[in-house]
Amino acid sequence: MARDPDCIFCRIVTGEIPAEFAYRDDEAIAIADANPQAPQHLLVIPTKHVPNIAALQASEEGAAVAKLFAIAADLGRKHAAAGFRLVVNTGPDGGQTVDHVHVHVLAGREMRWPPG
Ligand code: AMP
Ligand code: ZN
Repeated sequence: MARDPDCIFCRIVTGEIPAEFAYRDDEAIAIADANPQAPQHLLVIPTKHVPNIAALQASEEGAAVAKLFAIAADLGRKHAAAGFRLVVNTGPDGGQTVDHVHVHVLAGREMRWPPG
């Protein structure tokens, strides 16, 4: 599905919900997370509505997955001298709350392990 009218990230992609873009091209956007978990917390979101990373991998034969991570790594490098963390919560057990695939870019503090 190209767009889901009920999806908050689709509505940000179309401009229906205003947002400031840290990155934008035809295939992906990056925005600040509304509830930041680190001093820098961005979300990299494909412009096409795909529910999760597994569906993206299946539908695009990996190219879109690679592109999403390439953008996330570039943003991480830009925002973090001392490292960063990329997170893709997937499904209920994975803690996913928005069913439009996205990569979290977290930076600006020391991260802990294991995650909660
Ligand atoms: P996840 O729980 O991994 O699905 O991540 C969804 C993220 O989207 C959460 O970290 C939310 O804080 C964030 N979020 C939800 N709505 C918005 C919004 N309108 N603008 C920016 N971030 C949002
Ligand atoms: Zn969507």
